[in-house]
Amino acid sequence: MSDWRRQAACRGHEDPEMWCHNYNEEAAKAEEDAIYICLARCEVRLACGEWALITGESDIIAGGYRTWIDADIKELEKELPHVTAKRVRRARRTYECDTCGATFTTTTTRYSEQCRACLQGLVPAEPVREWIRTLLGAGMKTYQIAEAAGRKSNTISGIMAKTDPPQWVRATTAACVFAVGLPEAMSA
Ligand code: SF4
Ligand SMILES: [Zn+2]
Repeated sequence: MSDWRRQAACRGHEDPEMWCHNYNEEAAKAEEDAIYICLARCEVRLACGEWALITGESDIIAGGYRTWIDADIKELEKELPHVTAKRVRRARRTYECDTCGATFTTTTTRYSEQCRACLQGLVPAEPVREWIRTLLGAGMKTYQIAEAAGRKSNTISGIMAKTDPPQWVRATTAACVFAVGLPEAMSA
């Protein structure tokens, strides 16, 4: 074991997954906590960052940076200019998402089967918007659509936002919206 690892603040932590690139609802908070521990409490932060750069790590938090994010790697490189030359660069490869068929690029191999949106349980928002437009066109009000979908009104109005409408929505939200039928007068 490299010497610096003995002093790592993450060593023996009860939740080592916090330092891994994960996709779930708690991940963002866990990442923040992990980064905080790296920055505030780790005495070997730069040794760890150096190791991550040299080995081309791309699935973990190291030195207080998310190695799967290019901007983070750039920041880490700035802190360690002498290491950059030795760095192993992971090839960015193109993959096709098993779930939605979209092509995406990533340097990680841990998450190469699904695109980021599918990993996060998201689906394209446009078809959902189209269905909401149809329901509105049939005379339903936003709050009625929300009620029928078991969602909050501002979830529905958010999807329909005129400026910067979302590209993705949660798969569960989409399913609930699609389950809303046309008002009887229209479908009869
Ligand atoms: S910088 Fe973070 S990931 Fe690296 S050894 Fe320290 S606590 Fe662990
Ligand atoms: Zn996908």
